[in-house]
Amino acid sequence: MISKSKRGLILILSSPSGAGKTTLAKKIQDSDSNFKISISYTTRTPRPNEIDGVDYNFVDVNKFQELSNQNKFLEQAKVFGNYYGTLKGPIEDSLVQGKDYLFDIDWQGTEQVKKIMPLDIVPVFILPPSIIDLENRLKKREEKNKELIDQRMKMAKDEINHWKDYKYVVVNKEVENCFEQITKIIKIERELRSTFN
Ligand code: 5GP
Repeated sequence: MISKSKRGLILILSSPSGAGKTTLAKKIQDSDSNFKISISYTTRTPRPNEIDGVDYNFVDVNKFQELSNQNKFLEQAKVFGNYYGTLKGPIEDSLVQGKDYLFDIDWQGTEQVKKIMPLDIVPVFILPPSIIDLENRLKKREEKNKELIDQRMKMAKDEINHWKDYKYVVVNKEVENCFEQITKIIKIERELRSTFN
């Protein structure tokens, strides 16, 4: 049982596409009911298995711009030509109530949240075991769309360049082991917070 601090924390998971971040995020949420996963807004087209309001809130560019103009986003970024953003919504209230948040966002979003809420975040970068391994995972997911895979690999290399800006870096060689390491990080960060909260 992980000890709880008073104020919640924001676990940020960043990684290149295909490094297993979504699976890890689900495992964390399933194993720890104190975590809420922030559902981002995006202008990207849904993938076949994705559900609106569950995986993302899928919106068009006009709606995204409207939310942005209304200053509704805590952070936002353009990734792969699509917009992504995290709504401020109830985040601060939840943290005050001791609830934790999980953000699956890229390095650009992490930089923004780092400036706004430096003490609340626990930034974790998930690395694939190798570039070849990542390419194989993407091939499985994107099947025969070579252009998309090439584009994702280029983006992956750009994203990986930012691993050193994160407090923690975990290699996802084997999902259970990676999950265990993240669980340890959460435990340590909660303990650290409970000493000064
Ligand atoms: P995908 O399209 O593969 O789901 O996500 C592409 C990238 O966008 C991933 O690196 C993911 O972490 C990032 N991303 C997803 N939601 C957000 C968000 O709300 N803000 C930011 N900055 N990045 C996001």
